[in-house]
Amino acid sequence: MSKFLSKKLINLEAYVPGEQPKDRKYIKLNTNESPYLPAPKVMEVVNRQAVEKLHLYSDPDAKILVDELAKFYNVQSDQVFVGNGSDEVLAFCFMAFFDDERKACFPDITYGFYKVFSKSFGIDAVQVPLKDDFTIDVDNYVNCGRNIIIANPNAPTGLSLTHEQIELILKTNTDRVVIIDEAYVDFGSESCISLLDKYPNLIVVQTFSKSRNLAGARLGFAIASKEIINDLNKIKFSFSPYNINGLSLVAGVESVKDKDYFEECNKKTIATRERTSDELKKLGFHVISSKTNFVFVTHNLISGEEFHKALREKGVLTRYYKEPKIDNYVRITIGTDEEMDEVIRITDEILSEYLPMCVGK
Ligand code: PMP
Repeated sequence: MSKFLSKKLINLEAYVPGEQPKDRKYIKLNTNESPYLPAPKVMEVVNRQAVEKLHLYSDPDAKILVDELAKFYNVQSDQVFVGNGSDEVLAFCFMAFFDDERKACFPDITYGFYKVFSKSFGIDAVQVPLKDDFTIDVDNYVNCGRNIIIANPNAPTGLSLTHEQIELILKTNTDRVVIIDEAYVDFGSESCISLLDKYPNLIVVQTFSKSRNLAGARLGFAIASKEIINDLNKIKFSFSPYNINGLSLVAGVESVKDKDYFEECNKKTIATRERTSDELKKLGFHVISSKTNFVFVTHNLISGEEFHKALREKGVLTRYYKEPKIDNYVRITIGTDEEMDEVIRITDEILSEYLPMCVGK
């Protein structure tokens, strides 16, 4: 730390992203990226002509992408805001809607960035405990008097709330924003975009990083009332007006246009997830029923930390959180069928090497 760091930031604990390995070739299942390539047309439009245009600034309104998303989700263009990853969209939400009076509230086990943002922006945050089965207790959010952020489905648990539960939260907190982070919604749950007409306090946030195979392009978006989008634009134009670079802009448009490819990739991921869950259960794992592109698993006979480490030694990267309540779990992103076959084979091998040692313990 330099002596120049702002006093406000001295106690900040930065978000720790999953490893992006440079040294060795791993089966990379630690950051919930898609194993599939971007839509074919993305490869065509990120071409020399697009690169040549980089001498100019990108469109600060990101109009072609905003319009394409509006068409896809059947909303007005002035209801769409795009950001440099949904992390940036969430950061802008914090800047726009949170303060000393509008404090934050989110589950104790959820996407780690909500806590980091709260600290970064000096926002008081209540972290509401999940139930023992890792579900969200909706009653805790009724009339909660704070801005609410819920990942639906939640991460790293993979569990989702019903619309009925989310509506209860929305209608009992009309003076506060309710941010539903739908990073994983395309893997089998229903988006809240359809609730926007009924609830002006709803902000739906999504990303291109998972179901649209563009994690490296850094694209995310919010859909909400035009007043809320206007507020987000005010923040963006006071902070980073050209937040979407020219290459990601054209890549994003093509990815939204190719609905068939999007649906085909997501269908494959869902099928692979179900098959992987079944195989892991056969090996004695407790697998939480997931609506995402990852599974969250635990085993009676090997600790989460040891399993995560053993997988890494054998060339498979997964995500492990040394945190209360979930420190015996490992989060495994769903890769291709071939990758998951290999993970099952390696897991079987780890268990057979490990279990004889447990017998003597
Ligand atoms: N929300 C959730 C729940 C996530 O898991 C992630 C990615 N790890 C994000 C938001 C951020 O995604 P991105 O910035 O890549 O859009």
